[in-house]
Amino acid sequence: MQNCAKSWGVLCRSVRLQSRAVGCSRRAVCGTAQNIRWNSTRAAAGAPASPRQIELIFPRHDDFSERHIGPGDKEKTEMLQTIGVESIDDLIDKTVPASIRLSRPLKMDDQVCENEILQTLHNIASKNKIWRSYIGMGYYNCSVPQAILRNLLENAGWVTQYTPYQPEVSQGRLESLLNYQTMVCDLTGMDVANASLLDEGTAAAEAMQLCHRHNKRRKFYVDSRCHPQTIAVVQTRANYIGVTTELLLPEEMDFSAKDVSGVLFQYPDTNGKVEDFAQLVDRAHQNGTLACCATDLLALCILRPPGEFGVDVSLGSSQRLGVPLCYGGPHAAFFAVKENLVRMMPGRMVGVTRDAAGKEVYRLALQTREQHIRRDKATSNICTAQALLANMAAMFCVYHGPNGLKHIARRVHNATLILAEGLNRAGHQLHHEMFFDTLKIHCGCPAKEVLDRAAQRQMNLRTYNDGSLGVSLDETVTERDLDDLLWVFGCESSAELVAENMGEDIKGILSTAFKRTSKFLAHQVFNSYHSETNIVRYMKRLENKDISLVHSMIPLGSCTMKLNSSSELTPITWAEFAHIHPFVPLDQSLGYQQLFKELEKDLCEITGYDKISFQPNSGAQGEYAGLAAIKAYLNGRGEHHRTVCLIPKSAHGTNPASAQMAGMKIQPVEVDKNGNIDQVHLKAMVDKHKDNLAAIMITYPSTNGVFEEGIGDVCDLIHKNGGQVYLDGANMNAQVGLCRPGDYGSDVSHLNLHKTFCIPHGGGGPGMGPIGVKRHLAPYLPSHPVIALPQDIDARSLGTISAAPWGSSAILPISWAYIKMMGAKGLKHATEVAILNANYMAKRLENHYKILFKGSKGFVAHEFIIDTRPFKKSANIEAVDIAKRLQDYGMLDCFLDNTDMDNKIWELSVPQ
Ligand SMILES: *Cc1c(COP(=O)(O)O)cnc(C)c1O
Repeated sequence: MQNCAKSWGVLCRSVRLQSRAVGCSRRAVCGTAQNIRWNSTRAAAGAPASPRQIELIFPRHDDFSERHIGPGDKEKTEMLQTIGVESIDDLIDKTVPASIRLSRPLKMDDQVCENEILQTLHNIASKNKIWRSYIGMGYYNCSVPQAILRNLLENAGWVTQYTPYQPEVSQGRLESLLNYQTMVCDLTGMDVANASLLDEGTAAAEAMQLCHRHNKRRKFYVDSRCHPQTIAVVQTRANYIGVTTELLLPEEMDFSAKDVSGVLFQYPDTNGKVEDFAQLVDRAHQNGTLACCATDLLALCILRPPGEFGVDVSLGSSQRLGVPLCYGGPHAAFFAVKENLVRMMPGRMVGVTRDAAGKEVYRLALQTREQHIRRDKATSNICTAQALLANMAAMFCVYHGPNGLKHIARRVHNATLILAEGLNRAGHQLHHEMFFDTLKIHCGCPAKEVLDRAAQRQMNLRTYNDGSLGVSLDETVTERDLDDLLWVFGCESSAELVAENMGEDIKGILSTAFKRTSKFLAHQVFNSYHSETNIVRYMKRLENKDISLVHSMIPLGSCTMKLNSSSELTPITWAEFAHIHPFVPLDQSLGYQQLFKELEKDLCEITGYDKISFQPNSGAQGEYAGLAAIKAYLNGRGEHHRTVCLIPKSAHGTNPASAQMAGMKIQPVEVDKNGNIDQVHLKAMVDKHKDNLAAIMITYPSTNGVFEEGIGDVCDLIHKNGGQVYLDGANMNAQVGLCRPGDYGSDVSHLNLHKTFCIPHGGGGPGMGPIGVKRHLAPYLPSHPVIALPQDIDARSLGTISAAPWGSSAILPISWAYIKMMGAKGLKHATEVAILNANYMAKRLENHYKILFKGSKGFVAHEFIIDTRPFKKSANIEAVDIAKRLQDYGMLDCFLDNTDMDNKIWELSVPQ
C-alpha cells in the first residue's frame, strides 16, 4: 500500500501511456455531451495510444488496480530476479503455451477510478424502482437489524473468511452456524439440520434426490401448490437423473403401488393456505414414501411445526429472518431431517466435539458424505453454500429470541386478519380461510381496477393467470400500509375501523389445532443477547475467534481468493439493490438489467464465450447447469445415447458429483506423473466410448498448477468424437487477459465470481457460478417459470437451475465494480502477478521441498504443490502438521489434499 503513494507519479504516467481516452466516469457524469461522445468514438475506433495534452498536466486521479494487486515495482523486480526471468512478459511466455495466448488486449471500457465508481454505479442503481412488495412467493420484506447489518454483513471480519475447514481458526463462524442449525431444528421440530443450502428451490430438489437415493424409486409426487419456481427446479433436476415427477393435489396422490420415492408439499402453500397434511404423511409412510415439507420459519413460530406431524425432510428459505430481498439472493435455504436420514443429508453440517484439553468445540461433521471425498457417490455436489446469510438469520434469532420472533409472527398474522376482514367486507372473496400471512383474492370488482390503484401507490401485488390477486404481508407492515391496501381493494374502511369491529376474540390460527404449542429456542444463546450492547459484543467475540482476510492471506488450493475491496462491497446494501423483489415487472428493475448486460458483455470478452447465464448460485451449480446444457443440446440433436462424461482423476470433487446430477456416466481419466492428463489413456478412453461420448470436464490450468500444452488437442479430440468440452473455470484467475477458454476449444465453463471476481467467500457462501457458453449452446441456457428470460421464448432451454431468475443478483455489483475499476490492463496484470507470486514462492521453497508439478519450461501457474511425504520418514511430520504450524503464525487454509494422495501433500495457491 505504501508503495502506491510513492509511485503515484509513475503510476499515472504508465496508465496514461497505455490507455489514451482515460474515461473516468466523473467526466461522463458531469462532463459535456461532447466529451462523452469523443471518448466513445475514440474507444470504438481503437485509437492509438497517444496521450492527450490535458492528461500530461492533469493526470487521472488514481489507479485501483495497483492497490488491488499489492506488490509494487520494486517487489516485482525482486521477484523476477529471484525467479531468473527478465520481465513479466518473459515469465508469461514461459508459462502459458503460445498456442493458446490471446494476442490482443481485452476490449473493455476504460477503467473507472475508485473514487468515482460508486457514483457511476449509483446512476445505474437508481434505475431500479423501490415499490412496496406484497408478492410473497418465498420472498418477503424484513427489517434487518442495523446492529447486524453494520457489524456482520458490512464487516470484513465476518464476510471474507473461507469455508471453515480449519476449526482452530473458525470457532466463531462455527458457533454461529451451529446456532443456525439449532434454530432450524427448533422451529421445524426436526432432529438435525445442515448449515444452509443455496435457495429454497434447490433445497427442494435436494430433498427429491435424497428420497430417490433412500428407496431407489423413480417416481416423485409434488403438490401443485408449491411455489412455481420450486416446482420448476425440482422437475429439472428430476428430469436429468431419470426420476418422473407428477404434479398433483394430495387427494389425487396414490401411493399404493409402492413406487413413489417421496412427496413434496408446501405448508403454508404458495397461495397462503394452511392445511393439515398429517394424513398425507401417514399415507405416504404406510407405503414406504418419504414426506418432504417446504415451509416458512416465521410462520412456524406460531404454527404447528412439520416435525410434529411426522415429516421426514423440512426445507425452505430463511430469507425473511433478517436478510433483504436482494432481487432474488443471496439467501440461505435450510434443510432438516429426521435422525435416521442424517447420513444422506446434503451440504455442510457443524457438530460439537472435544479438543485435546477436553473442552467442547465445534467442527464440520460427517464430511465423508461430501463430494470432496465421495465424488460421483456424494450425497450432493454442494460445496459453497450460503454461510454468511445463514449467520445473518441466526443472529436475527439470537437478537430477537423466542419471544421476539413470536411477537413478529403474531403481528404479521394479525395484520393479515385485519386485511382479510376488510376485504371480505368490501365484497371480495377469499380463496381460503386458514392462513398465516398470505391471501389469495377473487376480486369482487375487475382486478385491473385494483392493480391500477396499486400502481398509483407504487405497490406490487401477486397476479394469477385466473385473474385473482395475491397479497403477502411481512414484518415491515405498518398501519398505513394496511390502509393503503384496503384503499387499493376499494374498501372504504380504515384498518383502525376494521380492527374495532373485529372485537377481541378473533385469534386466527391461534384458536385452531394449527396453533404451535411446543416451545422453541430455549437454549441460552437465544435468550441472552436481546440488547444492542450484548448482541454487538457477542458478534465481536465470535469474530475475534476467526481468521479472515483482515488478518492474513488464505492460500487455499484452487480457491483463489482476492481482495474484497470496500468500494466493491458498499453497494450491496443500497436500497436500490437490496429492496427489490425478484418477481417485480422488468420495468422496475432496469438498473439490474443494465448491470447484468454490462457484466455479461465483459465476462464474454474475458472468456471468449457468446452468452452468459447468471442463474447458478455456486461453481458446482454452474457445473450442473453447464452439463445439463450439453445434455439438452445433444438430446436436441437426437443423440440421447451420449451420456459418457470423461473426468481426469485430478478434477475437483464437484465435477463428478455434478456430472452424476446431469445424468451422465462418469469415466475417470488417468493423470501422468507431471500432473497432466495422461494422453494415451485419454485417447484409449475416447476410442472406447466414442459412440456414447457426451463431454469431458477439464480443469485448466490443472489442479496441480500446470498449464498443459496439449489443451487445444484435447478439445479437438473430444469434438471429433462427437463430445462437448466443459472447462472448469474456477481457475480463471490464472487466465484472465492471457488466454480464453472459448478460443482454445471449450464449449462451456462456469466462473466462480466468489473466487476470481472478488465476491467474498462469506465463510462458505454466498457464491455465484454463472456459466458462459459458445453460440450453439445458448438456446439451451436456464429459463425461469415466473420471469421470462430470452431462452424462455426458445423451448429448448435445459430447464430451471435456481429459484431466482438471475441467482444471487445483489452480489453481482461486486464483480461488476471489480472489472470496471481494473480495466483490461489491470485485469491482465492481476493474472500476471498471480503467476509471478506463485513462481516466486515455488522458487524460494524449491531447495527445501520438492515442487511436484511444473510446466514444460519449468514454471508453475497460479498455484503449486509441494511434496511433504519425505518428512514423514525423516521427522515424523505430515502435511497437516505444517498446515497447523502455519496457522500458529496466522496463516490458514493451506489445502490438504486428502483425496488423492493420502493426506500427505500440501497445495499452495498464491492469490495476487
Ligand atoms: C471452488 C471450485 C469448484 C466449486 O465451486 P463452488 O462454488 O464451491 O461450488 C469447482 N471447481 C474448482 C476447480 C474449484 O476450485
